[in-house]
Amino acid sequence: MKIIGKEINKTSLGLIKFILITLTVSMMSCMGISQSAGDGMPLVEAQPSFEFEKIEKSSDAWQKELDEQAFYVLRKKGTERPFTGTYWDNKKEGAYLCAGCELPLFDSKTKFKSGTGWPSFYIPMYDNTVAEERDATLGMVRTEVLCARCDGHLGHVFNDGPKPTGLRYCINSVSLKFKEMD
Ligand code: FE
Repeated sequence: MKIIGKEINKTSLGLIKFILITLTVSMMSCMGISQSAGDGMPLVEAQPSFEFEKIEKSSDAWQKELDEQAFYVLRKKGTERPFTGTYWDNKKEGAYLCAGCELPLFDSKTKFKSGTGWPSFYIPMYDNTVAEERDATLGMVRTEVLCARCDGHLGHVFNDGPKPTGLRYCINSVSLKFKEMD
């Protein structure tokens, strides 16, 4: 009986040790994720919300306001040629606003080098300023991203971004207006 008891105790101890080790390892990995974003990116979470009212203007009004390239990208869903825009290699600290209506869209802290030739971010600045729509043009299905206030076309979001979100917001420079931090 004693032998059986010892064996049961040994089994229980082994089980407790296993559970403790598993818990410790999973806790450590959770802590690791919250402290370091991986790939050298800082963990920046989107701020809850930014108050704004929708802007609606006619195509003619936008055409008068925007230059030719901005009108083509923002209002006609065009794409600028890679490595030609103002911000793909901009490393200054600040905020990227919508070039159409100045709604804050992205924080420079979340900008990363994607090698694509377009400014790339892993998360928007606010939860509610970047809208998404299904885009099935050019024979593929992508997720278009737009300014939530003026519906200006910004670019697309893909699932091959860096940690912590794994997202890559691929944005046209001409859709953005950079505001350097003071
Ligand atoms: Fe806008």
